[in-house]
Amino acid sequence: MRIAIIGAGFAGMYAALSSARLRDIKGVKPDELEIVLISPVPHLAVRPRLYEPNPEVMAAPLHDVLSAIDVTYVEGSAKGIDTVARTVLVQSPSGEERSLNYDRLIIATGSRLFRPDIPGVAEHTFSVDQLDEAVALDRHLKALADQPESKRRNTIVVAGAGFTGLEVATEMPARLRQLFGDDADIQVVIVDRNEAVAPDMGPGPRPIIEHALRELGVEARVGVGIASVDAGGATLTSGERIESSTVIWAAGMRAAPLTAQVPGERDNLGRLLVDRELRVEGVPGVYATGDAAKAACDDKGNYALMSCQHATRMGAFAGHNAVADLLGEPLMPYHQEAYVTCLDLGTAGALLTRGWDRHVELVGAEAKKLKQEINTIWIYPPKPVRAAALASAEPQRVTDL
Ligand SMILES: Cc1cc2nc3c(=O)[nH]c(=O)nc-3n(C[C@H](O)[C@H](O)[C@H](O)COP(=O)(O)OP(=O)(O)OC[C@H]3O[C@@H](n4cnc5c(N)ncnc54)[C@H](O)[C@@H]3O)c2cc1C
Repeated sequence: MRIAIIGAGFAGMYAALSSARLRDIKGVKPDELEIVLISPVPHLAVRPRLYEPNPEVMAAPLHDVLSAIDVTYVEGSAKGIDTVARTVLVQSPSGEERSLNYDRLIIATGSRLFRPDIPGVAEHTFSVDQLDEAVALDRHLKALADQPESKRRNTIVVAGAGFTGLEVATEMPARLRQLFGDDADIQVVIVDRNEAVAPDMGPGPRPIIEHALRELGVEARVGVGIASVDAGGATLTSGERIESSTVIWAAGMRAAPLTAQVPGERDNLGRLLVDRELRVEGVPGVYATGDAAKAACDDKGNYALMSCQHATRMGAFAGHNAVADLLGEPLMPYHQEAYVTCLDLGTAGALLTRGWDRHVELVGAEAKKLKQEINTIWIYPPKPVRAAALASAEPQRVTDL
């Protein structure tokens, strides 16, 4: 028997840990039930940290922990899924293709930034979405430090004042001052089509965010979009031109394209619709989890967001259920009632909200301390010690803040 997991992000990693945990509890040997994790690289890209400086170190190796729990790592990208024959076509980094059969499949291919068809956006914008893109931005900023001082060099435009855009924009003043010097005349402009920053966070936390932007000197242009981008800057739909060598796109995510290979229903973000056990509706043997799935997370009408917080726990439930399903054990409905948001606001601190109505719980230095703890400890893979690693994936307990 084989369980194949595609994707080694937060959801894929916890699906691997949790499936290995239940296999262990049920006394099934790894050669009786093989768990395979397919991903292009043997590390977890720590995406929630990619707005920070030096992103090249934001990758956590997975080889040791996977071998400690007897999960087979297959290096490559899944290019195709045949849900009738129950096979996955995997392409290795050198281009060789092989077909891997499965008894249960877990799709944990995550999400990626969506760049709309606006002139110049594809060619001229940076991002902090994937590791290589964040590294490219970091190199670009470092290279700018060697250029003569100019308004264009010193100006950053961030498109999108949602969670990611706010974290990038509020990080930039300190990052640029470190590169260009304390006296540099720095300008950071955050742009959003919505009438206010943090459109999804609502009126409770917004004044704190707006205060932080003012404190940092980050200018907000709201109710206006980006009309075009070129090598010298961005033009807004209002006609305003902002000269800038660095336009960062941080507006909108979509599920990774592999979800389109599964003959299930998808939402407008490309996420596969799943039932409470995280099975793709109408596609036997296939589970979807993390950012690749649209799942109800409670009985009150809330759905998991594209977030690391939801992905880790969803991964744990998907792994557990795939094994339970194969072994004829009861499945566990995914649930995650607690919901928090911890938003980094650069040198202005951070903001912690709790609940779906985003009640502000912590601000400033206290929230920043928690954010740093989340970013440097909580979201990393467990240590490669078998018993502790397996225990960390108990589905009910994964990441409850
Ligand atoms: C800058 C930034 C800040 C963020 N901050 C936060 C935050 O503060 N809190 C929070 O909760 N969330 C945050 N997020 C969101 C969070 O990072 C994602 O929701 C989370 O990474 C989703 O986990 P995942 O495992 O579903 O997908 P991913 O982490 O996207 O992992 C997907 C995996 O699938 C692999 N993959 C994709 N396609 C294939 C294929 N065809 N074959 C094989 N492998 C494939 C990828 O290589 C990767 O290993 C942030 C994201 C960004 C970019």
